[in-house]
Amino acid sequence: MWISLRWYPVLLLLYSGGIAAVAARKYENLRALMHAELPDPARPRVEISLIRGIVDCLGDAWELFERIPGHERQYAPLSEYLFKRFQRPSASQRGYGHVWRKVRAQILKRDPICMLCRSAMSAQCDHIRSKRDGGDDSPTNLRGVCRRCHDARTGRQGRRAR
Ligand SMILES: [Zn+2]
Repeated sequence: MWISLRWYPVLLLLYSGGIAAVAARKYENLRALMHAELPDPARPRVEISLIRGIVDCLGDAWELFERIPGHERQYAPLSEYLFKRFQRPSASQRGYGHVWRKVRAQILKRDPICMLCRSAMSAQCDHIRSKRDGGDDSPTNLRGVCRRCHDARTGRQGRRAR
């Protein structure tokens, strides 16, 4: 009956990999893991990504779950919650869409040298007042900074937020 059992090693791998990636803030690793290609058991020679496989697996699990009497009162699939949490939102979901890319290019052109250390080339567009603190995307609130200064700054902001 429990046909999803075959997915358990994969889920376990994703779970531990996910925790490791989140703990180390290496979201790229997590994304790579999610998109790892694997053979589709239903269709030989067709590769599906791990994430797609897990979605299918949750579908299987859900179908089985629906056969349990009283299931509608106990809907609390932790795996789905974790799954959503671990997904890094896309650039547009985070509000960094097409307009932002344009503004960013303008700022990097205006501030070619890092406005913090004044020695390295600007590589990032930094919010002087962070969006979390109510800062906006207007040019007066933005400045070009080098990668090192940006990482140091966002790292500090990240720690402060926790
Ligand atoms: Zn700098």
